[in-house]
Amino acid sequence: MGQPVGGVAGFWARGLTGNPPGGKSLGFAYEPVSQQKRNTTMAELKILYDKDGSLAPLEGKTVAVIGYGSQGHAHAQNLRDSGINVVVSELPDTANGKLAVEHGFEPIPAAEATKKGDLIVVTLPDEIQAVVYAKEIGPNLTPGKAIGFCHGFNIHFKYIVPPDGVDVIMIAPKGPGHTVRSCYQEGSGVPCLIAVEKDETGSAHDLALAWGIGIGGGRAGIIETTYKEETETDLFGEQAVLCGGLTSLVKAGFETLVEAGYQPGIAYFEVLHELLLIIKLMAEGGITYMRYSISNTAEYGDLTRGPKLIGDQVRAEMKKILGEIQDGSFAKEWIEECKNGKKNFNALYEADKNHPVEVVGRELRKMFSWMDAKETPEG
Ligand code: NDP
Ligand code: MG
Repeated sequence: MGQPVGGVAGFWARGLTGNPPGGKSLGFAYEPVSQQKRNTTMAELKILYDKDGSLAPLEGKTVAVIGYGSQGHAHAQNLRDSGINVVVSELPDTANGKLAVEHGFEPIPAAEATKKGDLIVVTLPDEIQAVVYAKEIGPNLTPGKAIGFCHGFNIHFKYIVPPDGVDVIMIAPKGPGHTVRSCYQEGSGVPCLIAVEKDETGSAHDLALAWGIGIGGGRAGIIETTYKEETETDLFGEQAVLCGGLTSLVKAGFETLVEAGYQPGIAYFEVLHELLLIIKLMAEGGITYMRYSISNTAEYGDLTRGPKLIGDQVRAEMKKILGEIQDGSFAKEWIEECKNGKKNFNALYEADKNHPVEVVGRELRKMFSWMDAKETPEG
């Protein structure tokens, strides 16, 4: 069963400083993040639960949920089920507009919803928020109202600048909207991040906490952060590790095997299909638990080859990517891309859609009677 503790000790010896596992702190600290001079441990995370707040700040008030998509449908329904008055804005005659009606809401334009709302929860796609804000939300945001987001992009990078007198808050569930809804219905909740960017009324934090509790977040834990920290770490995570890092790693691994003459179908299993198991183990019990479960051979290969692969060059690139997030240049590039009709975005997306790992995967998954294989919807 491997030697997980030795493995991790070795990992620490290779450059991470702080307290090794088993010591007082679980050592989330990674010393090169010197500009922040932080040594964050669980003890430093401030986590709030149902008992730490109440729904009272929302009682007698109206929450306007703008956009009935992944997050919007969950926030609107969970808050309504928590006894809060909710109005919804959606585009008429769209799939989600019809869904809102099916769920018993009467969708209204964003301008009207903003007028009715005391708390305006913006659950539009990030790249559309500033456009809808400028035309419909902003002009109707009067002092004493609060505006809330599930991700800090537009506030942090100042694509949206709410007027004086308006509180700016965030509840960011750390899970997809459909899980936020299903957990709430089961009596549990998805952990959330909470942040206050502007407290004009003196009660912004209480209001944000009430929103988080109202969607079920207080059952799991609502973690204090800032708009800056949430926005920058979220973008970095998805770019460098979760989405960008992972998909490029899979493609490079697949290409390496196929170029060396191995069958694409076999390569698919080895570099993509089995990710499911590994990621599940890591999410459930961390890296150590995953290593405890895999074979000793796999573990030795992991410990000795992984650090060679993700070496100085990749770390330097990660720093560059983080720098482009921090200085706003990634945000500017993305907003420009959207303004120009997403030409580059669409070309890159189409190219990857037809990558051999995707072509072979689409065929292979038809054999997978044990899983609910998915086809990507068009559009
Ligand atoms: P979705 O794309 O799922 O939903 C957005 C909804 O807004 C869609 O139904 C869209 O309609 C609708 N919409 C578009 N334009 C308008 C308009 N002018 N007026 C009213 N409605 C409109 O977004 P997400 O839920 O994924 O994201 C919302 C926010 O939540 C983002 O800030 C995101 O970063 C954040 N977030 C998302 C998470 C997730 O799991 N998805 C997790 C945590 C945070 P149509 O479909 O017809 O375009
Ligand atoms: Mg994220």
